Amino acid sequence: MDLTRLVVVSNRLPAALKKDEQGDWKVVPGAGGLVTAMAPVLRDRGGTWIGWSGTAGGAEVMDLLASFSKEAGYELKPVGLTAEEVNDFYFGFSNEVVWPLFHDFQSRCNFKPRYWHRYVDVNRKFAEAVAKWSGENDYVWIHDYHLMHVGWWLKEMGVTRRTGFYLHIPFPPVDIFLKMPWRTKILQALMEYDLVGFQTYRDRRNFIQCLKLFFPDVKAKGRGPVVRITHDGGTFNAGYFSIGIDYKQFNDMARRPSVKKLAQTIKEADDDRMIILGVDRLDYTKGVPQRLEAVRTAIENYPELHGKIIFTQVLVPSREKVPEYVALKEEIERLVGEINGKFSQPGYTPVQYMYRSLSREELVAYYRAADMALVTPLRDGMNLVAKEYCACNINRKGVLFLSEFAGAAAQLQNGALLVNPYDVEGVAKAIHHAYYMDDKDKRLRMRKMQDIIRKYDIFWWLDSFLQAGFSRGLGDFPPQESVDYAAFFEMGEVEESEDDSSRM
Ligand code: UDP
Repeated sequence: MDLTRLVVVSNRLPAALKKDEQGDWKVVPGAGGLVTAMAPVLRDRGGTWIGWSGTAGGAEVMDLLASFSKEAGYELKPVGLTAEEVNDFYFGFSNEVVWPLFHDFQSRCNFKPRYWHRYVDVNRKFAEAVAKWSGENDYVWIHDYHLMHVGWWLKEMGVTRRTGFYLHIPFPPVDIFLKMPWRTKILQALMEYDLVGFQTYRDRRNFIQCLKLFFPDVKAKGRGPVVRITHDGGTFNAGYFSIGIDYKQFNDMARRPSVKKLAQTIKEADDDRMIILGVDRLDYTKGVPQRLEAVRTAIENYPELHGKIIFTQVLVPSREKVPEYVALKEEIERLVGEINGKFSQPGYTPVQYMYRSLSREELVAYYRAADMALVTPLRDGMNLVAKEYCACNINRKGVLFLSEFAGAAAQLQNGALLVNPYDVEGVAKAIHHAYYMDDKDKRLRMRKMQDIIRKYDIFWWLDSFLQAGFSRGLGDFPPQESVDYAAFFEMGEVEESEDDSSRM
């Protein structure tokens, strides 16, 4: 089969529709790494991006997107959602069930049956859009946890397409996934794709272990990043492809004179102090309160750090109308106040706090200026901030503290100081250690991380997934990370071997 066009499906379109001051709709293009990497491929191959437009739809929206499509060089096709659908499918099932459960926060889940039913219905809407806007020879690439059922609906509707699904967030371990009331349906839906992609080895392992528990005939064969899974007479592939960043773009921007100047201004105010940076969306998975406790503990346990370190936390507003997020913001602000109240002195405020989105230049300048970055999510699919910080560390004297529970830890374990974000004394100790680390050690660590982030960038990720998706074999994929996964995950007893017959 000659696969030519690419059809990308995601919850949101890569351009947002917003009303201007006059109340007229306008299209604002997305600027994230995924859009940047995907756009040239869609343009060159010819392609379509299907997603929610942020509105209920209508002729006006279609016209606007049609003119935007012309400029972009590929088609944008909207899926309109009603307010009820947005509430139950998006805020409900996606964000109150899948997001917390897949990040190991089972107690935060709200397993309302209504959410589930609407999730399945909305996934059908997306599948109908795929059927309408794609042809038999197109490769359909579906993204993320909002759309796990699209492949299943395509099969139900008798629509034959080559399909790939990529999960950007973690896949939970068996004992946590078990709590999902609709667990077998979700697994069955995922098995309808020709290729299911995860961020890390650990996510793929969890997925396969869940499959084996619920479907005892499941067998996984292969030892590489992509394995072949057989079940009920059919086969599909499951692989891991760690998402990267546009390394060159960040590194080039960090070298710009305007960024250098801004970084100097940031640094100048606290010239003799070490700047420790945190950048996160407001979300309970990011571990910001625990991080603030660690900074407090560092100053308390190591008095010589008092007056010598500044912790700058950038918190990007997110899901602001959800009470849980409002409470989290209040908790963070209370902690910032407590630490500053206790440790501030004339000319010294230990925690600087920004609750806003930064421009790209500002963000890169903060990355460049920071002596250390505290990236300590409680659980994270990958964490791009960690990679962006390294890409912008021009002088290679920066130190990255990285949570063991971020997907990025597997790739960056040889350069980062890995920490358990729940262990505030351990994180404080790591800060103390890094304060005295010599420049040679810092450079060596940063170089190792930069080499990996440069090599396995967003373009590599996209190519690897598409190559794995387009070819049906297991052997012809580009090499994956050269880091020692086996050591990190103690992979001695992996289950996906050629002759495997083990069961849980
Ligand atoms: N970011 C942003 N504006 C800001 C600060 C950060 O757009 O003011 C971006 C940052 O460059 C990164 C993303 O937000 O690409 C965060 O990605 P990450 O994987 O770390 O976490 P996520 O928010 O996707 O869970």
